[in-house]
Amino acid sequence: MVPGARLIVLGKQGAGKGTQCVRLSRRYVLPHISTGDMLRAAVKARTPLGLEARRYLDAGDLIPDSVVLAMIAARLDQDDTRTRGFLLDGFPRTVAQADGLDEILKPFSIDLVLDLVVPTGLVLARLMSRRVCEDCGAIYSTSAPPKFNWTCDFCGGDVVQREDDTEEAIKNRLAQYDYATAPLIARYATLGKLVEVSGEGSPSEVAGNLNAVVDAYQHGGRFFPPTPREHS
Ligand code: ADP
Repeated sequence: MVPGARLIVLGKQGAGKGTQCVRLSRRYVLPHISTGDMLRAAVKARTPLGLEARRYLDAGDLIPDSVVLAMIAARLDQDDTRTRGFLLDGFPRTVAQADGLDEILKPFSIDLVLDLVVPTGLVLARLMSRRVCEDCGAIYSTSAPPKFNWTCDFCGGDVVQREDDTEEAIKNRLAQYDYATAPLIARYATLGKLVEVSGEGSPSEVAGNLNAVVDAYQHGGRFFPPTPREHS
């Protein structure tokens, strides 16, 4: 059995977090927790959270920390994340969220933070050409479309441009990243948990870079044992 782990993947919008987290999640059997996907699912299902989140998502603004933290606290309390750990994608995005995560995880903590590094020019180009499956979230681009007529290869859903992948919302999200999220890089570096990984190259090349880092940690026996449920 592969040991579990508590991992964060950081990186600008378009750095490839979503694509790489799907691969990492399969390889290391870790639940993939994407706050963006959870919020978009809530919007689609018109839950109270979704109705509140919609205007932030459309503008490319951050959802209030308290809302995101409540959502994450509930998710990290489920059996799969307690026993296997997790791969956080798109969270934490602010210092307050990182503080909140530390509280949620006590007495444990994050094992490793992978920072996917990609130049801004490249992420802009990737975001403008990105297309996603409305149903399962699979990621395509105008240069690597699904095989048949913008229908998802995996689930048959419609493959579309995300509503917040407009030039204006993308610029807003990248500015938010520099302002609110980039300080987390120094935070985790100081804790000795940060590893920078190049996000340039094909998805398989980048996956190879990430796997090498995670494998090295696993072989060093540095990942955590599963967390027992307090009352079971
Ligand atoms: P991207 O990284 O390209 O912006 P995501 O799917 O990660 O895409 O997030 C989409 C949107 O969801 C963000 O612009 C923001 O409105 C909201 N969101 C996702 N994660 C968070 C978070 N941790 N804190 C606040 N808002 C979030």
